[in-house]
This record gives sequence, C-alpha cells and structure tokens, in this order.
Amino acid sequence: MKWEENVRKAVPYVPGVPPIHGNMIKLNTNECPYPPAPGVQAALAAMQSEDMRLYPDPASEVLVQGLADYYGVKKEQVFVGVGSDDVLSMAFLTFFNGDRPILFPDTTYSFYEVWADLYRIPYETCDLDGDLHIRPEDYKRLNGGVIFPNPNAPTGVYEPLALVEEIVGANRDVVVIVDEAYIDFGGESALPLIQKYDNLLVVQTFSKSRAMAGLRIGFAMGNEKLIRYLGDVKFSINSYTMNRPALALGMEALRDKAYFEEITGKIVNTRERVKGELRELGFSFPDSMANFIFASHKRIPARQIFQALKERDIYVRYWDKPRINNSLRITVGTDAEMDTLLAFLKEYINRNSK
Ligand SMILES: *Cc1c(COP(=O)(O)O)cnc(C)c1O
Repeated sequence: MKWEENVRKAVPYVPGVPPIHGNMIKLNTNECPYPPAPGVQAALAAMQSEDMRLYPDPASEVLVQGLADYYGVKKEQVFVGVGSDDVLSMAFLTFFNGDRPILFPDTTYSFYEVWADLYRIPYETCDLDGDLHIRPEDYKRLNGGVIFPNPNAPTGVYEPLALVEEIVGANRDVVVIVDEAYIDFGGESALPLIQKYDNLLVVQTFSKSRAMAGLRIGFAMGNEKLIRYLGDVKFSINSYTMNRPALALGMEALRDKAYFEEITGKIVNTRERVKGELRELGFSFPDSMANFIFASHKRIPARQIFQALKERDIYVRYWDKPRINNSLRITVGTDAEMDTLLAFLKEYINRNSK
C-alpha cells in the first residue's frame, strides 16, 4: 500500500509481561511489593466521580509545589509527567535536537534507543567496563547530549556522585539527563548538582520506591530554564497530562515520608539478604543498589532457569540479547516472595546439578 511510505515506523519498547493472575509471584517489572502509603487509600476513598467532570489543573500545581517543598527546590525547577517514561520521552524531544549523536551506555534502559529512533536523534552507545561500570572518559567527546540511569538498568550498578558530576561538568554545552528511577534504594541523588549545573536534568518516578506504578507519575528537576523549555514542548502536545487522581494521590504519597522510608528500608534489607543467599546457590551478579538483582548462575543457563521459574508461576525478567542473555533480572519482592523463589531455586539447582 502506497500510504505506508508515509508512516512513521517505530520499533516499540516491550514492557515486562504477563498480566497478573492467581498465585503468580511477580518479580519482573520492579514494582514495589508493598502498598502505597495509607493516606493514598484514604484519599482515594474520599474521591468523587464528580471530581472527574472537570479538566485537571494543566500546571499540576499541587504536585509540583509538593515536590518542590519535599526536595527543597523552587516550583519552577520541577516538571511532572505521566510516569518518568513520559518525562524522559519529552526530554528527548526537547533537548536532543542537534546533528551530533547523543551518548548512552550500551547496556542500559532499552527505551533510550526507542525514543532516539522515533525522534530521529542520532546516537552512539558507550561500552561499560569489565565490572559493568560507566567509563566517564567515553563521555568526553563531542556529542548532542548524554543520558544514563543511576543506578543503571538492568545491572543495578550505582555510580558515585563524583562520576556523575565529572560527566555533567565535561558536557556543559549539551544537556545531561540522569535517570534516577532507582535512586531511593541506597544511592545518592544528583539533585544538589542542579543548582550548580544548568545543563543537568534529574528524572525520578513514583513507580518503584513509592509503590505507584499504576498511577503513572514521574518528574524531573533542573534549572528553571530547562524546565520552562520542557513545559513548552509538553504544552505543545497535550495540556492535561496529569489526571486529577494522580495529582491528588501523588501528593498524598509525598506527605508520608516515614512510610516511604519504611518500605524502601525493608526492600534494601531484603535485597542484601537475598544477595547472600543467591551467592550460596552459585549465582553471581554486579552489586546492586536498586530494587532488583541481575544474576547469572555458574552452571545453568539463565534462559533455562527463567523457563523453570515461569512454570512454577514465578516471573522474573529475561532478555535474549547480546551481552545480557545469561542473566535474570529479579525484582526484590517481600521476604515471603523471596523465600519462595529461593526455595525453588535451591531445589531446582540441586536437581540439575547431578
Ligand atoms: C522503570 C524505569 C523507568 C520508567 O518508569 P515509569 O513507570 O515510567 O516512571 C525509567 N527509567 C528506568 C531506568 C526504569 O527502570
């Protein structure tokens, strides 16, 4: 068909499957295993369908101001979107607009190349070192922008703030985006650096550490000018990105800092315990600072373990891609979920080691 020549063809990102069912143990999309803060449930119960008759506030004032207060920045330094995927996509469209290639690690969040292709942004990837760390010197050549997650995905490897600053400082003529989807699980955020570097955009999400993946709330913080440019693009696409429940319930989640610290603390404790147990079972992995562990077994191929787990209704993430096709990305669930996983693995590995 002739019209197909005019189609903007895209190779979409494939999210973790499958839908939730029965007794499955879902450790494949890095969701929080605990419910959102109790205040969220109360605010949800108080919500009226009549509230949905009107458009939401296009400026998302409640949530933007709430985030500004929480993080100690001005509201002009905060941008919110429909999950950080929306924020990141908007940032690609806004800031990566030159002829030079943007740079990101070659093992990283696979959405980056999807957006680059969709928006026709040239890109080059930079190898990680032998221990899966970012090599800052790779990001010191001419480029059209830089993006990397910290901690990285799907490895969980965290880079100290000094490395982040080295890359931001070496790239003052382009925008550097640090995707901090997993920063609340033990890392140090690059947020303070936005006061010093007008080319730094820090992106975070409510999906992992705030247990609200289903509500879709992401945000970015940076220099006021960066945020204004981002807003101009957003308002050129859709004025009402954030719906009323997301604005109200997101704000509610922010109010309860104690609960947030309790659940992220629990996840970190579980993660550290599970690291030890996986090692005993013959797994190795880069030291993760996220809410997942990227593990491979010394004898049994990842694909085979993935399949066996799936048959037992335990879902983890596996990619049949070069460099990462012998690893499983295992989300840190509750202690009980991890015990079920570990018991199965122990039995399975014994059975397959004779
Ligand atoms: C999960 C994730 C995101 C996006 O999450 P949202 O649910 O869209 O906020 C962004 N970057 C990385 C590296 C992620 O793992």
